[in-house]
Amino acid sequence: MKKDAKVLIEVKNLKKYFKVGPNATLKAVDDVSFFIRKGETLGLVGESGCGKTTCGRTVMGMYKATGGEVMFDGIDIHKLNKSEKKKFTRRAQMIFQDPYASLNPRMTVGDIVGEGIDIHGLYSGQERTDRIYNLLEIVGLNKEHASRFAHEFSGGQRQRIGIARALAIEPEFIVCDEPISALDVSIQAQVVNLLIKLQQELGLTYLFIAHDLSMVKHISDRVGVMYLGSMVELASSHVLYDKPLHPYTQALLSAIPVPDPEIERTKKRIKLEGEVPSPINPKPGCKFAARCRYAKPICKEKTPEFKEIEKDHFVACHLV
Ligand code: ADP
Repeated sequence: MKKDAKVLIEVKNLKKYFKVGPNATLKAVDDVSFFIRKGETLGLVGESGCGKTTCGRTVMGMYKATGGEVMFDGIDIHKLNKSEKKKFTRRAQMIFQDPYASLNPRMTVGDIVGEGIDIHGLYSGQERTDRIYNLLEIVGLNKEHASRFAHEFSGGQRQRIGIARALAIEPEFIVCDEPISALDVSIQAQVVNLLIKLQQELGLTYLFIAHDLSMVKHISDRVGVMYLGSMVELASSHVLYDKPLHPYTQALLSAIPVPDPEIERTKKRIKLEGEVPSPINPKPGCKFAARCRYAKPICKEKTPEFKEIEKDHFVACHLV
């Protein structure tokens, strides 16, 4: 990716709340802002339940935003009419965590991959068949696979089918929602390497959601860290991993195992005390304050601003 590439997606103060009772609002995504440049991968990490999937789905327009904006190439995707929405779905696609659950068991692989081609009327007849064969080859499968069903494939192969399906309509942007979390470790790197190769060849832009921090580092240009619906830190991968500033990022990174046994044995782990608080009717102040070993009185009173500490390094912490 070129450093000065234009911004393709700009998310401004995005909120997605779920009403979960008469007086209970679950703030799954609470005032999140970021941008993604064309050809770039933005990683989104954080513990399970912090709002990554909800954020990805709201960015895709699958959920209506409670507040804020998602600008895609200058267009607010939450203000599109039906035909504009169809045009947008051609430009943006999603890959899911569980490829088995997201692939129709009664359709052949060829028809799964071809569905988007049919919906958008891109190719028919022999051209459609050739395009499907070509897509299967692009993702490391072959044309004999087109007549088979999803259950005949391994987890890694199913994810390749999911990728071929997403690529079928030639999107520019793909939200990859934990695409490797359900796969064996030995297969994870293959799928990540395929995504990297496709990005280089097709100029794709990715939002890559994951809870495995080591794989995210490998694929992402920049990484955002979420905690309880809020973005707490965002920086280029090497800055975030080498010089994390938010106490939550520091704790998350300290838990990644290192392959060198000597370093692993002597490494200092920051243990997070207590549980992740509930996202329902959250208290004011910094959401991490209750578990933060540096917390001061202000942290429990005032929500910290998500501010740019140095170029391209954003942190939401009163003490940074
Ligand atoms: P993550 O992807 O980081 O694991 P999610 O986005 O799936 O997090 O969930 C964030 C929070 O929103 C969780 O507390 C989850 O229970 C809640 N949530 C997600 N989807 C819904 C929904 N449709 N209705 C109510 N609560 C939801």
